[in-house]
Amino acid sequence: KSIVADKKIRTVCTYCGAGCNLEVSVKDGKLRSIQAPWDSKVNPGHLCLKGRYAFSFYDHPDRIRTPLIKKNGAFVEVTWDEAGDFIVSEIDRIIKENSPDHIAGISSSRCPNEENYLMQKFMRAVIGTNNIDNCARVCHAPTALGMQRTFGTGAATNSIEDIKYTDCILVFGANPTDAHPVTGAKIKQAAMKDTTLIVIDPRRTELARYAHYHLQLKPGTNVALMNLFFYYIIKESLVDVSFIEQRTEGFEEFKQHVLSLNIDELESITGVDRHLVCNAAIAYASAENAMSFHGLGATENSQGTSTVMMIANLAMMTGNIGRPGVGVNPLRGQNNVQGAADMGCQPNQGAGYLDVTDDKVHALYEEFYGARLPRHIGYKIPEMYEAALQDKLKAMWIIGENVVQTDSNSRMVVKALDKLDLLVVQELFMTETAEHATVILPAASFLEKEGTFTNGERRVQRVNKVVEPLPGTKPDGQIITEIMQHMGYPQPDYTAHGVLNEIAQIVPFFKGITRENLGESGLQWPVNDGGIDTPILHEETFKRGRGAFYNQTYKETSELQEHSKDYPFIVTTNRGLEHHNSGAMTRRTPNEQLITEDVLLIHPDDAKEYSIKSGDMVCVESPRGKTDIKARISTAVKKGILSTTFHFSEIMINNLTSDVCDSDTLCPEYKVIAARIRKS
Ligand code: SF4
Repeated sequence: KSIVADKKIRTVCTYCGAGCNLEVSVKDGKLRSIQAPWDSKVNPGHLCLKGRYAFSFYDHPDRIRTPLIKKNGAFVEVTWDEAGDFIVSEIDRIIKENSPDHIAGISSSRCPNEENYLMQKFMRAVIGTNNIDNCARVCHAPTALGMQRTFGTGAATNSIEDIKYTDCILVFGANPTDAHPVTGAKIKQAAMKDTTLIVIDPRRTELARYAHYHLQLKPGTNVALMNLFFYYIIKESLVDVSFIEQRTEGFEEFKQHVLSLNIDELESITGVDRHLVCNAAIAYASAENAMSFHGLGATENSQGTSTVMMIANLAMMTGNIGRPGVGVNPLRGQNNVQGAADMGCQPNQGAGYLDVTDDKVHALYEEFYGARLPRHIGYKIPEMYEAALQDKLKAMWIIGENVVQTDSNSRMVVKALDKLDLLVVQELFMTETAEHATVILPAASFLEKEGTFTNGERRVQRVNKVVEPLPGTKPDGQIITEIMQHMGYPQPDYTAHGVLNEIAQIVPFFKGITRENLGESGLQWPVNDGGIDTPILHEETFKRGRGAFYNQTYKETSELQEHSKDYPFIVTTNRGLEHHNSGAMTRRTPNEQLITEDVLLIHPDDAKEYSIKSGDMVCVESPRGKTDIKARISTAVKKGILSTTFHFSEIMINNLTSDVCDSDTLCPEYKVIAARIRKS
């Protein structure tokens, strides 16, 4: 039988924020292979292990193919109508007995913009609450807030292809070789030519081995390290005076604050030799063009927002904003984290980042949605769990997020979900979260739907349907629409095209976007009326007017203040190349054979002290919980530091993570866990 494809369809990868284009070959209605299109602006000819090979989950036998309702502790198959009737009557009851604010939703950063937009519209206009959030809360919320405060916009300033035009790359708390492999490869290639590479990371990652400067700081000390960095730039007179005078405010006070700091203390807090920091700071500040990429090592800390503001301040003080090859560029974890926030899946900002408490905005949304909307800010994800535990929340609706495995302090998350009267989960598989649901609605995967994804460089790209949804499943946008209609809201039948047109009417930076003018390469927002996009932000002026400098002072996380005596190690969690988040998709593909477990990296000196060899099982324990995990002796971590991924539910490392959050955004501190170990 011929293996020549019947058709090739272009779409966008569902995994990371690089947003690679896929050319998918289909034969006899089945997906056969995935290639990288050579004319892609994002990934010409290049895909990683996940994008190219991890697709067979889409028709895996584990896919849920019919709605399920839990009765007497067991799931029972029901029709879509029965599931809809049950959900709507439960929602009506909860609102009648309590209030709309007793219901909350978590949207999915792997769903297209159109579905995220509809989910927030459903929560606000139909349920009547601002209790809507998305997974950016637990990863890049500090980026959005930190960059909004300093620049006025919380999105990447430049494009990934600017790596070609830069002289110096700073990678801060990110491991793109594993987590954003196509971007990581571009950075590695640049470093192998003549671009200076600085890596700030507690682990000796693959990229750190290519770096000219690797600042291997103690986890949780980002703010101290950045102040040391600033100190040497100011002392060496490497600040860009004319940029600071013309485009920023608050620098003098900032400078005096930095110069007043105790350098001996900062060096000792971070554990990085001051001369190395000085040399790296000089390399960054004296480069003609320097750009930064930051990841969750910057954000998932108790001072996450402060760290992002400092990365933004570093770019401003050296004039590295507003032209090719510079800027501040967050590396987004899931493929549509940018889009989920752009579309308003946040408790304080609706579609287009408009403040839900502002009178004018409130009136605009009410007119547009034809409904009375709440005026007060809703719950952030960690607040939802807290509210459920206190009986202030009775129902949650979760789309495509396996929060039991991926959110911090898993045991607390489970307790909170189990207290709810109603938990609706839209999912592909029976995940660790779906097991706690009252109702499961079988959703379609990205390969079975249309829409748009927005990657980490603000590029809005078309998602095209490759195969029909598996019988019994529906695209998430259709599911939400049908519930809206069931509840009496006049929402037209779902088409991605129709919803994108609606988005363009209310989201200012989507104004000029149509499905047609996105073409094959997409457009980087803001897109004006004429369809012209914006590869570089803040070219002439910042969105907030003048860029703002803020003083930041290091504060030791309460996790270490309270627990370091009894728990002498710090565990820091991260991602691997082969798997994605909770592994719900990648573990149902051949990637499962490549990596079969999470392992714990332990420095050789610590291993010797505890008589641990590679392959031994060790018990790692924090004040919240413990788990048994296989040890791997490695110099990638410093003495006293342990490191592992969180892909395997058998390990469930988030049973150990804490309730400590970034104080500004409530992004959990996954990167600093006080722990102790013993041989199992
Ligand atoms: Fe997909 Fe990211 Fe890999 Fe690109 S780099 S193929 S977007 S997982």
